[in-house]
Amino acid sequence: MLRQALLHMSKSDRVRHLVETAPVSRGVVHRFVPGADVDDAVHASSDLIGSGRLVTIDHLGEDTFDLAHARGVRDAYITLIGHLAEAGLTQDGRAEVSVKLSAVGQALEGDGEKISLEHAWDICQAAQQSGTTVTLDMEDHTTTDSTLSVLRDLRADFPWVGAVLQAYLRRTEADCRDLSGAGSRVRLCKGAYKEPESVAFAGRDQVDRSYVRCTKVLMNGEGYPMLATHDPRLVDIGGALAVQAGRAQGSYEFQMLYGIRPDEQQRLADQGEKMRVYVPYGDDWYGYFMRRLAERPANTVFFLRALATKG
Ligand SMILES: Cc1cc2nc3c(=O)[nH]c(=O)nc-3n(C[C@H](O)[C@H](O)[C@H](O)COP(=O)(O)OP(=O)(O)OC[C@H]3O[C@@H](n4cnc5c(N)ncnc54)[C@H](O)[C@@H]3O)c2cc1C
Repeated sequence: MLRQALLHMSKSDRVRHLVETAPVSRGVVHRFVPGADVDDAVHASSDLIGSGRLVTIDHLGEDTFDLAHARGVRDAYITLIGHLAEAGLTQDGRAEVSVKLSAVGQALEGDGEKISLEHAWDICQAAQQSGTTVTLDMEDHTTTDSTLSVLRDLRADFPWVGAVLQAYLRRTEADCRDLSGAGSRVRLCKGAYKEPESVAFAGRDQVDRSYVRCTKVLMNGEGYPMLATHDPRLVDIGGALAVQAGRAQGSYEFQMLYGIRPDEQQRLADQGEKMRVYVPYGDDWYGYFMRRLAERPANTVFFLRALATKG
């Protein structure tokens, strides 16, 4: 219930204003978002890479309904990639970027999908020139077909473009099969949006079981699975399934979000696993932040209490 309410609030302008202007927000948000500027993202990435982890960086923002803004987001990514390359962080994909197609124009009326493809193509070209990769984040289920279609088009020129599949969607096991071919980079996550039961599993157990089935498909395929979860059970099962499938460390990776279970991130990296941290930066943190609260009741209680007393 709380999760559904928070995900609903993540789309509310009134709550957005309240949360964005509350003095307490800055401190709590900082746990999940290292800063607003490109330099903040580069510094955080440099520290993580120095500790043996890898990063994927997200320029925060989604649901762009204005062409000029969509172009601005594309330019921000190209600038980010330039800064990462200058700092020597892009070699071998140590720092790559994650892109939401809705931020680069997918939601624009008329030609939205085509515009997002063009903008994503420009970002991929910049990434390729700097020796790194791009992963397309997955948003709510109404965008899945469009995002997979853009992915197919991008992969014609940039076969290394990563996909994200969400285990909570009933369709995902089949999508995993489709995307488990040679060289296919696929991030598997549980899924972070408010979805109807007609398309998504509602119970935690059902989602977890789907996650395991999807992991099996990806590990037994020929692609490059990227297991994005903080769930200790699913991390253990992922590692065991990799061994069962005869995969060596480095032929798959684990991924976690910035600020979440950092000790576990380091433990996995120290064990020789590839561990990539998703680093978001920018001003437009509201939607991302609310989804993180929805995942973790303890954070929500802390945040709401602080909001009630200080806001
Ligand atoms: C790298 C990455 C990229 C992602 N990209 C996308 C995307 O493109 N699209 C999308 O829809 N979603 C994305 N997500 C979010 C994802 O879908 C989930 O909403 C999110 O990861 C929470 O699910 P979980 O697997 O971590 O498990 P949860 O069910 O949230 O947690 C399971 C268990 O993990 C442990 N745990 C979780 N959080 C904490 C914490 N803060 N401290 C200590 N233990 C904790 C607890 O034991 C908990 O019981 C991404 C997640 C990651 C890690």
